[in-house]
Amino acid sequence: MKKLAVITGASSGFGAAIAKRLSAQGYPLLLLARRLDAMEALALPNTLCRAVDVCDAIGFEQAVQEAESEYGAVDCLINNAGVMLLSELDVQDPKEWQTMIDVNISGVLNGMKVVMAGMKQRRCGTIVNISSLAGQKSYEFHAAYCATKYAVHGLTEATRWELAPHNVRVIEISPGAAETELISHISVPEVLEDYQNWKASIGGVISADDVAAAIEFAITLPQSVCVRDLKIAPTKQQN
Ligand code: NDP
Repeated sequence: MKKLAVITGASSGFGAAIAKRLSAQGYPLLLLARRLDAMEALALPNTLCRAVDVCDAIGFEQAVQEAESEYGAVDCLINNAGVMLLSELDVQDPKEWQTMIDVNISGVLNGMKVVMAGMKQRRCGTIVNISSLAGQKSYEFHAAYCATKYAVHGLTEATRWELAPHNVRVIEISPGAAETELISHISVPEVLEDYQNWKASIGGVISADDVAAAIEFAITLPQSVCVRDLKIAPTKQQN
């Protein structure tokens, strides 16, 4: 049997797609998100599902400890949970950008802190941080979201440096536009409409499973090989 993999944001989109792929490969899993029903509905074998907000560092750690006592030490953490609340900054409710800072940045830091010490000690492990093309370039209405994803880019680069001598891989996956629930939380109707029109104008976007396949590829390479930074987007997406 493979070693334990932890996936955050596993109740929809990329997280659920990654869970299905890794489970098919034989990984025991810990799935984390706030919607427990959606994770349990995946009905995957050797899988523990826990309703955990990634902003809750203690709840995150307790869930990982519980999974480790059942399946052994965590070998792979996929920091995928995230929110994208798009708006022009001057009219955006600061609560929206605080939510993105909490989930997209602190949630990733919380996850890394839970697993890093053990991985260093075992001299083995893989951490995958889901950033975005918006973590490396700017887009209209994306100021606060870009700020959080640029942060994920920076912390991923820095921790890869820290963990390399310990034989622990830190991988950044930067998707372009993909079909998930992500845009359903945008609160400004004109911005949502603009995004949907843009998606239609490029003839559709990639699927959650396309992204999951890229992640599966990266993590199943030998431990001595680190895919540092993988960008994946629709072929017809120009920006
Ligand atoms: P979805 O909205 O489908 O999935 C987001 C997941 O994050 C859900 O499972 C949600 O679960 C979880 N989540 C949100 N807030 C929290 C929280 N506080 N605690 C725990 N889990 C949380 O979107 P995607 O699959 O698209 O998003 C996954 C990642 O991919 C995000 O980081 C996103 O920024 C990134 N991304 C997405 C792109 C796209 O076009 N779709 C492009 C580039 C990057 P629940 O609500 O149950 O808690």
